[in-house]
Amino acid sequence: MNELRRAGRHFLQIPGPTNVPDRILRAIDRPTIDHRGPEFQRLARTVLEGLKTIFRTSGPVVIYPASGTGAWEAALVNTLAPGDRVLMVETGHFATLWCELAKRLGLDPVLLPGDWRSGVDPRAIEAALAEDRTRRIAAVCIVHNETSTGVRSDVAAVRRAIDRAGHPALFMVDTISSLASMDYRHEEWGVDVTVGGSQKGLMLPPGLSFNAVSQKALAAHRAARLPRGYFDWTAMLEANRRGFFPYTPATNLLFGLAEAIAMLHEEGLERVFARHERHAAATRAAVEAWGLEIVARLPAERSASLTGVLLPEGADADTLRALILDRFDLSLGAGLGKLAGRCFRIGHLGDLNDLTLLATLAGVEMGLRLFGLLPRASGLEAAQAVLLGELTSARAAA
Ligand SMILES: *Cc1c(COP(=O)(O)O)cnc(C)c1O
Repeated sequence: MNELRRAGRHFLQIPGPTNVPDRILRAIDRPTIDHRGPEFQRLARTVLEGLKTIFRTSGPVVIYPASGTGAWEAALVNTLAPGDRVLMVETGHFATLWCELAKRLGLDPVLLPGDWRSGVDPRAIEAALAEDRTRRIAAVCIVHNETSTGVRSDVAAVRRAIDRAGHPALFMVDTISSLASMDYRHEEWGVDVTVGGSQKGLMLPPGLSFNAVSQKALAAHRAARLPRGYFDWTAMLEANRRGFFPYTPATNLLFGLAEAIAMLHEEGLERVFARHERHAAATRAAVEAWGLEIVARLPAERSASLTGVLLPEGADADTLRALILDRFDLSLGAGLGKLAGRCFRIGHLGDLNDLTLLATLAGVEMGLRLFGLLPRASGLEAAQAVLLGELTSARAAA
């Protein structure tokens, strides 16, 4: 272990957990309060109402003291019965993990195959639902922003596909790496359960996750038969109505959550989304200048919160990441699952500005040089041109 002190701030540019702003750290750094007292009740009501503005829903949002995986499980056990068929799409590692979890819970998931470089094809969903004449499929589950690849899917288009098929399945969406970074509308897009997490766009430490719940999901909940205990919406919603939780909540993370929601509204959600789109465009310009390939095939599907970068055949991305961490104190995301060692991921979500992004891209560019993958041109210059408005990409202009 290197025991020398490293001056300056560590660059945590993985696609979650993201770096936590000082304001949120200070909000968390307070004595824990009685979670059955009036001060807590005010805090709970503030965050329960505030979250609705982030998910864009008028319905309830449940908060769990759990990582995102807990909220995945909660979405399934609260609405489904043993053996229910669930339609999922193999967009990448996270979609695959959610599918495996569904299997372990006694569901019957069908995973539409994918190439780990593309988003959800609404026509494939429509076709699978149209074929399901006996209405065995109880839910369609997709990942809005596949964090293992940096590919976004069109949630509204999937909703329209379900409607065209005239199928009654519930619609569930994982927004763990898109919520509060990319435009998302639980109610307008007709989503029944939205799954979120604290440690990405919400700029909090890991430890909280969420279910935004529609009226249709609540109706399914009343008839659902999978065993559920800790994650049961009924006990949670009942306690939440009084401003409390059915068990000890993660009180200090809730202080941070209230601060995060306030910060997002001070900046304005539309400006938050535009900032992420702009930083993504600058990052893509850098990758293209370096002469490297972006994991996401279609420009329209490229994520605003992270960029996955493929290395040429034979180059080990984990060695490159280790070198960059060692030399520049910069953490980049690893390739996951099928993409292990083949790609690295640059997180550009959460609390960052133009210069944070440029420093990150400088770290990658210098790392590539040291690694012997000589960049074709300066990615930093290309990124600056986008940030200065001299060069626009389709997404930045949109
Ligand atoms: C991070 C992430 C998860 C996993 O959440 P954990 O907090 O690690 O349990 C799931 N889905 C997506 C899309 C993610 O980005």
